[in-house]
Amino acid sequence: MFAEELARLDAAGLRRHRRTLDGAQCAHPVVDGKPYIAFCSNDYLGLANHPALIAAAREGAQQFGVGAGASHLVLGHARAHEQLEQQLADFLQLPRALLFSTGYMANIGVVTALLSREDAVFADRLNHASLNDACLLSRAQFKRYAHNDLVQLERLLASTRARRKLIAVDAVFSMDGDMAPVPELVNLAEKHEAWLLLDDAHGFGVLGHRGRGVLEHFNIRHPRVISMGTLGKAAGVCGAFVAGGADVIETLVQHARTYVYTTAMPPLLACALLKSIELIAGGGALRQQLQKNIIQLNQILKEIPFPWRLGPSDTAIQPLIIGGNRAALAVTEALGARGILVPAIRPPTVPPNTARLRISLSAAHTADDIRQLGDALRDAAKALT
Ligand SMILES: *Cc1c(COP(=O)(O)O)cnc(C)c1O
Repeated sequence: MFAEELARLDAAGLRRHRRTLDGAQCAHPVVDGKPYIAFCSNDYLGLANHPALIAAAREGAQQFGVGAGASHLVLGHARAHEQLEQQLADFLQLPRALLFSTGYMANIGVVTALLSREDAVFADRLNHASLNDACLLSRAQFKRYAHNDLVQLERLLASTRARRKLIAVDAVFSMDGDMAPVPELVNLAEKHEAWLLLDDAHGFGVLGHRGRGVLEHFNIRHPRVISMGTLGKAAGVCGAFVAGGADVIETLVQHARTYVYTTAMPPLLACALLKSIELIAGGGALRQQLQKNIIQLNQILKEIPFPWRLGPSDTAIQPLIIGGNRAALAVTEALGARGILVPAIRPPTVPPNTARLRISLSAAHTADDIRQLGDALRDAAKALT
């Protein structure tokens, strides 16, 4: 029975395979023993293998050992976790921040802690899987609106009789790279007395002058906004935070099940993250380099007469939408043969018939890396159509 299902995945070009990284995540990794240029990671600033973070993790292990040994509410909350939460709140200029072990767990924790059966959650159709799962688990009415369709969202908000309302949305959409209309969402939240949960997994560290993320990008601070960001992407380590008003955060400490019922992240990771946030805050040059890389790639891609569609993205995530699953895999394989890794993202991660290459850029890519990617894509477009 499982074997038949797996065979069906194969037949549809939907079976996924892992590659094994021999060494650190970086722009030029060794994968299954071979060197590549990779456009696959969310390590947007190249911090995942940064010497200062490695040193901080090593010192953290000396001071705190390797395991937290308990959940935060029992005796797993180390001085390093406490300092990191304080540093994150200061950096984000929000009243309080709370650490979670992963972004997936943060989203599940927030939505399920804040909502129950009497409530309603409003979600963009292209939201990340973790937000969708969170909304389902919360047992609240789960209303999805078409991507960035504020008219539909407002209609849904106006027609609900729910006790508590939450708009939950990716700030930067993970498979498309475009941004949510955050100022308009804040206005709608205010007008309809809803809360706004922004998943800034792909904005934190990257957007805004100091890298504070989407709220800094749009220059927004609002008491109804709850900000969530991951620490395994631009921050280069692991984990996530939720930040916002003190009452909201204290509610999470009391009720977020993915916070209460799990072992705290190893404190040595909090030590590495303390260093990472410092590098992000002073990381203007890294963000400029990333921006330069985005512009260079955009210029190259615009000039290639693709039979495929380029998504409208100004961020480090650049989707090239191919359509069919096998066709997307064929492009990925053609690039791989030339030593360039770009993942083919297929349903159910993206809607049917929108299989795509998800190109993700890092400050660690060189101009020559991006030129080589452009050449390989130009040749693949010619050869495969
Ligand atoms: C990656 C991601 C998450 C999950 O974060 P992890 O720390 O990897 O669990 C949540 N939301 C979005 C939009 C993401 O891209």
